[in-house]
Formats: sequence, C-alpha cells, structure tokens
Amino acid sequence: MKLNKEEFLADVNAILRGDYACDLASANKKERYNALSKAVMMKAYDAWMKSTQSKQKRCAYFSAEFLMGRAIYSNLLNLGVLDEARKIMSSVGVDLGEFEEVEDAALGNGGLGRLAACYLECAASRDLPLDGYGIRYRYGLFRQTFADGFQHEEGDDWLKWGDPWSVRVEREAVKVVFSDQTVWAVPYDMPIFGYRNGVVNTLRLWQSEPLRPFDFASFNEMKGERIAEENFNATKITDVLYPNDNTMVGKILRLRQQYFMVSASLQDILRKYKKTGKPLSELPEHRVFQLNDTHPVLAIPEMLRLLRLEGLSFEEAFDICSRAFNFTNHTIMAEALEKWDALALKDLLPAVYEQIVTCQQKLEKEGADPNRYYIVKDGIVHMANLAIYVCAKVNGVAQIHTDILKRETFRDWYEKYPDKFVNITNGITPRRWMLLNNPEMAKEIDKRIGTQWHTELSELSKLDPVLTEMLPAFRGIKKKNKEKLAAYIEKAEGVKISPDFAFDVQVKRLHEYKRQLLNALSILYFYYEIKEGRMKDFTPTAFLFGAKAAPGYYNAKAIIKFINEIAKLVNGDEAVSRYMKVVFVQNYNVSYAEKIVCAADISEQISMAGMEASGTGNMKFMLNGTVTLGTMDGANVEICEEAGIENNYIFGARVEDVPDIKKFYSPRQILAENPALKRVVETMIDGTFDDGGTGVLRKLYESIVEGYDPDHYIVLYDFADYVRVKEQLLRDYGTDEFYLKCLKNLAHSGKFSADRSVSDYSRLIWHI
Ligand SMILES: *Cc1c(COP(=O)(O)O)cnc(C)c1O
Repeated sequence: MKLNKEEFLADVNAILRGDYACDLASANKKERYNALSKAVMMKAYDAWMKSTQSKQKRCAYFSAEFLMGRAIYSNLLNLGVLDEARKIMSSVGVDLGEFEEVEDAALGNGGLGRLAACYLECAASRDLPLDGYGIRYRYGLFRQTFADGFQHEEGDDWLKWGDPWSVRVEREAVKVVFSDQTVWAVPYDMPIFGYRNGVVNTLRLWQSEPLRPFDFASFNEMKGERIAEENFNATKITDVLYPNDNTMVGKILRLRQQYFMVSASLQDILRKYKKTGKPLSELPEHRVFQLNDTHPVLAIPEMLRLLRLEGLSFEEAFDICSRAFNFTNHTIMAEALEKWDALALKDLLPAVYEQIVTCQQKLEKEGADPNRYYIVKDGIVHMANLAIYVCAKVNGVAQIHTDILKRETFRDWYEKYPDKFVNITNGITPRRWMLLNNPEMAKEIDKRIGTQWHTELSELSKLDPVLTEMLPAFRGIKKKNKEKLAAYIEKAEGVKISPDFAFDVQVKRLHEYKRQLLNALSILYFYYEIKEGRMKDFTPTAFLFGAKAAPGYYNAKAIIKFINEIAKLVNGDEAVSRYMKVVFVQNYNVSYAEKIVCAADISEQISMAGMEASGTGNMKFMLNGTVTLGTMDGANVEICEEAGIENNYIFGARVEDVPDIKKFYSPRQILAENPALKRVVETMIDGTFDDGGTGVLRKLYESIVEGYDPDHYIVLYDFADYVRVKEQLLRDYGTDEFYLKCLKNLAHSGKFSADRSVSDYSRLIWHI
C-alpha cells in the first residue's frame, strides 16, 4: 500500500466530518484514532475482498481465544505504511505515538491466545489461506491493579476507543439454538494483513445478540416475561472471557460459549460451501479445521449433526469429519483437560450429545478396550479423547511435549493411532516481536544482512560471522531500550530502576507450575546475603515480574502478594536497593510485553520440567537477544539446541528425573539441610511480611511444606541449583562474552518464527 499525503488527509478529514462532524484541527484523540484507522481500512478493502473470494482450499482456525494486542501499529507495519503514516500525521501536528493509549484487544488469557494471533499474522504473511474463528467478548481479560500488594480485577472495556479495525457483517448472522434459548450470532470481521504482500485473511469473531432486532416472527412467538430474560441471556453468552489459563471451569455458560462459537462458524462455513455446488463428501478437499485445544472440540459433534441434517448417514458424516478436523493439545495438566458432565451437556444440547454418544458406540463396536478407550464414561464426556478419536492429526507444541503426549498422557491412543501424532513446535511472529517492538535492532540487522530475515527468520544466522563486530551496537541499543522501559515503569508503577542494572525478567501468567515462587525465594535469599555482608560484589539487578492470576486461584494471588511484599522490603532498604530492585508491573499484557521483551537481559523460564508444553515468551526474549535462565522444559530444550546450551543457563531436575524425585520427596528435609533456604521460606510465617491478616502467606507456606503432596512443583528441590546457576549468570553479566551469548541467541532464533510453524502445519496437516 502507498499513502499519498493529500489524498490520505482528505480521507481522514472526510471520515471525521461524516462520523464526528469535526476535522483534524478540532478532533480529539479517539476521533483521530478512529478516522485514521478507517481511512487505512478503506484503502485495504479491495485487497481484502480479493483474498477472501479466492477459490483455494482454506483452513479455519477455531479458537476460544485470540490475544491480538493493539492493532494499529502492527497493521500499518504490515501494510508497509507505518513510516509514511507517522510522517503524514506529524506534518499536521499529530504524534502517531499518541495511540499507545488505545486498549489492547485482550480476547485471550496468555500463550494459547497469543499463539493464535501470531499464527493468523504469519499465515497471511506466507500467503496461506487461514482464517480465525472465535468469540467477540464484550470484556476481555480483566485489567489488573495492585492495592496494598494484592491483585484487584476490573472489567476490560476494550471497546472504549471504538473498534475501527472490525466490520460488523450483520447480513451473515446465523441463529444458534440451545435447548432453552435461540440467539443470533453476528459476525465481526477483522482483516489480517500479511507482511507487505497484499494478502488479507480474516478473523471472524461472533457476538451473541437477542433475536428481537432481526426476527420479529420468532420474537412474537415469545410471551411477556420470557422476552426480557431471553434478551438478557442472549448478550450474556459473549459478555466476558473466562480468566482461567490452563484450568477447566465446569460452568454451563462456558459450554454455551463454546457451542455458540463452533455452531455459528460451521453453519456459516457450510452455507458458503454449499453455494459452490460441490458435494459435501469433498468438503475436506476444500475446507480443513484446526481446533486450538479442547475449547472448540464441540465442533466435531456439531458438524456431525449438521451433516446428518443434510441427509448424510452417520458413517458418511464421520468420514468427512475424520478428514477435515485436526486437534492441537496445549497441556498435559489434568486440571486443564476438558471434561463435561454428560447430563448437563445432554440437557443443553441434546442433538449434539446424541452425536457424541454415537461416536462412543462406534468406538465400542470397533472392539476397543473400554478401559483404555472411551469418550463418554461414568457420566463424563472426555473432550480430548473425542478429538483424538475423530481427528486426522493431533499435535503437541514442542518436541518434549509431543514426546510426553505419546509416552504418557495419550499413550493408549498413540498405540492405536501412531500416525495421527505429530509435533509442531510453536512460534512467534518476528514482525510484532522484533520489527515493531525493537525497530533499532531490526535496522542494525538490516544493515548487516539485508531484510530477507523479516520473512525468513533463519536468515539471522548470517549474522554469525559479524557478531563480535555487532557487539557495541547491540549493547547500545539494548541500553536505550532499557532506558525507555525504566522511564515507562517509573511513570506506570512509580518505581525507579537504573538502566545500568541487569534486567532479569519473568513475565507470563501466574501459575504454580511456572514457579514465580522459585524466583521470589532466590531474590529474598540474595537480599539477606547482601544485607548481612556475605555477598559483596553482587551485580546490580532489577528483578521484574509481570503476571495476572486467575481471580479464583488462591495460591497464585498469594504469590503476587508475597512478591510485592519482597519488593517493598528490598526497594525500601537503602543499603540493599543499590544492588537490587524488585518490580511487579501491573496489568501485564501484549503491549507491555513489547516494551519489556526488547529491554531484558535475562529471560526466566523456570517451570518444573515437563509442565510447560512449549512457552512462547521464551522465544520472544531469545529473538530480542536475551539469554534464557531456565529448566529443560518446553521449547527451552530446542532453544538450547539452536543457540547452544553453553549460551544459556540451564538448571534443575530433568523431566525423566521428576518421578523418582517425587517418590521420596521431603521438603522438610531439604529445609533442614539448607538453613538459608529455610529462613527465606519461613518469612511467609514468621512475621517478616504482613499479609493484612488474610493468612494467604501462611497458606502458601503450607502448600510447599505440609500436607499430602507438598511442593508439588519441586520448588525447594530445584532451589540450590537455580541459585548456583543464577549467581554464575549474574557474574557473567555485562562482559563481552555475556553479550555474545545474547547475540548468539538472537542469531539462532530462526526456528521460532511462527512463519515456520504455519508452514509446518500446512505441509503436515492442512495441505493448503
Ligand atoms: C507471549 C505472551 C504470553 C506467553 O508467555 P509464556 O512465557 O510463554 O507463558 C502470555 N501473555 C502475553 C501477554 C504474551 O505476550
């Protein structure tokens, strides 16, 4: 796309006149944001229509979450007009940076939702016909603040700036029918721009609405009371994103959301497919589906139901589904594998439940051992099993994760269907996670190896011969990024950190398995070592955290409080705060991540081995030239393969050792043998910290020291090795050798481009 200054300003002014009865001179920020965005949308419209009307085979990516972040800068970048737009706006006195206030579209929790967003961008950039289908939540992931160190949640009104990057397509609304209500699903389409290639795919998000405005006939059949209730319930379905990450919530509203999304999407896709005149039996040659975790797995029985309404037999419908659907597993944690109460499902969606039961009967008829293979058992529907039974391919998201799926989680299914299981290691888009968030580094790389790496990230390895040469520039840019982040943190959090400190960062959802507690305990250990004079030459370090805890996740919230108490202690201690600061930033989200990732020196990826399926935060840091301080878990394993284990800092129990460790595990014994550790752990109960009388810190203490399965994630077991490696890392920090390790990581991050991931999906699964 090209922007002509006069023409573009005329477009913007025309939109301002029509929509707000003002012009650029008198418009406010929100009006400017909407007008500028819409002017760009109008220019992109032809390319969008051309892409969507192509006749090629397409893949539909079904996901309950799309963590898109802020659209404006990413879209301008991909359309190739970011610099031009900046210049044009500045010529009329508008700083493009003013739109950094615009809310993120946080329609997802964390890694899973961000992955979906990266895949859409990368597929468009690789000219792969992939469209997203999901839910247009009225409120996304809650906004987090801290009061007295405790997390507070507020509604995320992401639409308060308007939604100029979406188009409401009311004429394509479809009805979704539950046993107790029928609602409209109205699609909002968001264009997904490929990087400077003219391709525009679509993210279609469904919003639930009452029948009334569109359908007087249905409305008139209802009477009095029911009308108000029906309207109330209708909008409620897509009101709010469930704020749980890696946990299952057995709420009927969640089930409603899932069915709403898949039913609307499939009706829409089938309606359009039928218009092409091709037979339904050929559908998988033209349309394939990727199910992002179990949240959209109801798509399988819904498709069976819809195909049988078209007159197909169960076997015919099953055959189509078994060629069209594919399933991505994201976790081995039992508490995240979705299971629904069979009666509740049957109550809400009888015709869908019937298809699930027929799948179970088919499985039985095939003679499968009912103890090993089941979909419905003891009144429970097992969504992952349904997905594996029907889908053509099942994939894990990093090699170690796929190995665990085959060996443990889905061992029986793997034995039955070895060819279904494939690995596709996750990735991130280098456009948002380098070109956009770290433009100076990108330019520095351009200078040395050209720009091909923008779309072929493995080209970064061409930097190998010039890494030493690049060192001063790399240090300079990193320093500048740290200065910027420090200024932002001072403004947003009210804490001053020096850009001369090492920036040691752990940002990700708060979860016990991710072990923010391990990081916190090590910081407290360093604090006492410095304070009491045993550690004399500690490398000045800023320990940064960012994480939201699910509102009902008691221990996760306790960990936030604990870290905030540590921050208060450390930052308020004049003698020690010369060597360390601790900041837990509020409301960590995609836009915050963009600022943090390019300014980090150390990337903390310290989950218990076997628990983090892949991680993608680790990849963002690596690409931006950061060493990983981590366990051999998820994609960390592959990061070490690519960049060299000697260029990262690896510690802790390996996945194969964990079962034996847990067999004889005694946290009390570890504490008895390590008095320094015992002391920092006991700060949770000895009055060092004040939890406002809530008892949350004592409960946290108990969870790692007492009870039937204490310290489930072996924090205490890994502590000594963690501290040993972390001390070594901090000694190395600042040297040329250290920054060379950082650069080595950057230069060998090519594998972790999601361009590679979507190409793998296309080649191994979608065949688009
Ligand atoms: C990348 C990202 C994540 C995932 O981080 P992990 O460390 O892989 O868990 C979560 N939230 C946001 C906002 C992200 O950008």
